[in-house]
Amino acid sequence: MKVFNTLSRQKEEFVPLQEGKVSMYVCGPTVYNLIHIGNARPMIVFDTARRYMEHKGYAVNYVSNFTDVDDKIIKKANEEGVDPSVISERYIAECRKDMKALNVKEATTHPKATEEIDGMIEMIQTLIDKGHAYVAEDGTVYYKTRSFKEYGKLSHKNLDDLRSGGRALLVSGEDQKQDPLDFVLWKPKKEGEPYWESPWCEGRPGWHIECSVMSKKYLGEEIDIHAGGEDLIFPHHENEIAQSEAANGKEFAKYWLHNGFLNIDNKKMSKSAGNFFTIRDISEKYDLQVLRFFMLSAHYRSPLNFSADLMEAAKNGLDRIVTSVSNLNFLMEKAADVPMTGEEQQLFKEAETYITKFDEAMDDDFNTADAVSAIFELVKFANTNVNEQSGKAFIQAVKDEIVMLSDICGLIVEKKADILDAQVEALIQERQEARKAKNFARADEIRDTLAAQGIILEDTREGVKWKRA
Ligand code: AMP
Ligand code: ZN
Repeated sequence: MKVFNTLSRQKEEFVPLQEGKVSMYVCGPTVYNLIHIGNARPMIVFDTARRYMEHKGYAVNYVSNFTDVDDKIIKKANEEGVDPSVISERYIAECRKDMKALNVKEATTHPKATEEIDGMIEMIQTLIDKGHAYVAEDGTVYYKTRSFKEYGKLSHKNLDDLRSGGRALLVSGEDQKQDPLDFVLWKPKKEGEPYWESPWCEGRPGWHIECSVMSKKYLGEEIDIHAGGEDLIFPHHENEIAQSEAANGKEFAKYWLHNGFLNIDNKKMSKSAGNFFTIRDISEKYDLQVLRFFMLSAHYRSPLNFSADLMEAAKNGLDRIVTSVSNLNFLMEKAADVPMTGEEQQLFKEAETYITKFDEAMDDDFNTADAVSAIFELVKFANTNVNEQSGKAFIQAVKDEIVMLSDICGLIVEKKADILDAQVEALIQERQEARKAKNFARADEIRDTLAAQGIILEDTREGVKWKRA
């Protein structure tokens, strides 16, 4: 499998630090409002990357944070006259609902910045002790950017050409910086702001330090993949590297993956320009599976344009797959319960070439656009070659392929009513066997597939029981 690494600006062969395991950190949203469709892009594309790696047999430890201390959260809390945690908890809950509706898998760990302050203080102290940070008169702690010789290696910027900017540079104490390139690690409290005790002053952390600390705590000092939107390359990820590598003395992340931006009608998303949609807005008009499908129809690194026409096209595309699966289920109910004939076996070989195509596309830096094309070819194959004369085993095998490939993309293409009791029983049986064989990845995959169909499993002393949600 090859992935495009922003560090080297090249596609590289993916070799995990530990065989069979992948540690992955994806920068999550700042929770001060409902998330917008731009925020959904990294969630969907990196969730799909995760699903594909799990399908390949990797155990993926997936961490994604919620930034729950931030100027925008505090502003909103003050406007509403409530504690900032009321705002952040409200929008974390809403964000989780959106992620569920987009069929984004729950992260292995979903840490919140405000619960990790001790770790942040510890790492900041290490940076001070190692001469990479200093305390200004008012208690602000700054990272000494020039002390990290490799600064700029991710964004391919030269230290001397750099201009300070972006949201890294928090206002308080800015004039106490030794160098305009230095950025805030800790800043003193202001009236009406949440704060924590620290050795330097009562205050709160800068934004970048949270990801360095949460990544280390939940995944270790060296991780395989760090990902996020391309706007995070500089300064956020550049600063994370400076913090983590200076503090830990190790390479922080091996592969840096960044998704391209989502624009609306070829313009940057902007509230004031009126071209801004939350996930909730879209859900009023479409099943959110359509939004997921739309996002996967482009390569994750390409810019992606959102428009009403393109969403309609995505809806039609997804419908084609759903209809095909539904037809196959219909045919299967009437089909003769016989093994594949020689002719069907021969035909099925063609179907299998689409799995290879799908895998090759995904192995090439998660090219979901080509992977989706492979699913379409398979659907076309099914529509052409499966009919009333086909045997059950053949129909089932073709359908399983479509559902499996769609499932790797996180697309639910089998309607709840379509899944028959016998299929549920068969999947439960397969899950039991997978567990016995210690193939927990497959067992979990089956549980997720069933959950996506609204089937709830309960492990009891008498065996596995199930019910429809
Ligand atoms: P934020 O809450 O702004 O930190 O964003 C959360 C995630 O969404 C980050 O990975 C951003 O890079 C990403 N993101 C924000 N806006 C867009 C957009 N228009 N297109 C793609 N990704 C975006
Ligand atoms: Zn981050």
